[in-house]
Amino acid sequence: MSTLVDTFARPLHDLRISVTDRCNFRCTYCMPKEVFGKQYQFLPQEQLLSFDEIEQLTRAFVALGVRKVRLTGGEPLMRKDLESLIARLAAVPGVQDIALTTNGSFPLERVHSLKAAGLKRMTVSLDALDDETFKRMNDVDFPVERVLEWIAESARAGFAPVKVNMVVKRGVNEHAILPMARYFRQHGHILRLIEYMDVGHSNGWRMDDVLTARQMVDIIQAELPLEPLEANYRGEVAERYRYADGSGEIGIIASVSQPFCGDCSRARISADGRLFTCLFAVGGADLRGLLRRGADNAALQAAIAAVWQKRTDRYSELRSANTAALPKVEMSYIGG
Ligand code: SF4
Repeated sequence: MSTLVDTFARPLHDLRISVTDRCNFRCTYCMPKEVFGKQYQFLPQEQLLSFDEIEQLTRAFVALGVRKVRLTGGEPLMRKDLESLIARLAAVPGVQDIALTTNGSFPLERVHSLKAAGLKRMTVSLDALDDETFKRMNDVDFPVERVLEWIAESARAGFAPVKVNMVVKRGVNEHAILPMARYFRQHGHILRLIEYMDVGHSNGWRMDDVLTARQMVDIIQAELPLEPLEANYRGEVAERYRYADGSGEIGIIASVSQPFCGDCSRARISADGRLFTCLFAVGGADLRGLLRRGADNAALQAAIAAVWQKRTDRYSELRSANTAALPKVEMSYIGG
């Protein structure tokens, strides 16, 4: 493990790479249609990091201690030929794990081409089991059945258990928590309930719309008794629980009610090559400029280390009415 740590002695361990700011969904908590409408200017191709640049950056981060890479977006599968990028990153010595977060709305054969390219783990976002509620969360007409087929195909391809991320917004989809828990417990996947967060500055977040981890656990406990589980590793995002009858596990990501900044070891790269040290950051360091001015691996490492060593982020611990209004970077730009 690298000795590179931030001001709270948190090591740099996980790298999340956003490969595009585009998405084919308009989830109200991430890319509300009112803001990300037809007129919205997404990043032009030439401003996106090329696959060469993403690989070069990944090599620099690995040299500094990164072992896990997660590909995000927007919707990462909107980026053309993603499989070739995955194959290149899988070949970088030191990369032990490559994961993908997707909305699962693509042709099923992609599941197999992603696997063949070297993808290790599949995380799928799904906020309800019924089309009406799903549409209220993602604001597009896309059948839940197709996403469930993607999850089933992912299991057949060897990605089981698939992690299924469900953002819960009070008054919109909390009634879907138990049906989702029953379904994914039955199918052997890990449902992860996510507290609605004040990411970015466009989703109109209010604390009143947050259902806390405690409340989510109570909803499930009422029918399916749960027992807490130890974290798999330091810095794991989700609070883990097992069903008391041994039929699987569930996770809760409680950034609002139970902040986990103390062990946060995640760095994020935006699709246009900015380094962000927190999901709720306001600004990021420009690494693309360095790359395009010919910086070598040592210079990249020095730039990344300089940013990480000064890192003081712990937004969720400091969250307040004042912080919620900050012009925070959009989640669709740096990935969840
Ligand atoms: S709020 Fe920022 S520092 Fe805290 S866990 Fe999230 S990304 Fe890490």
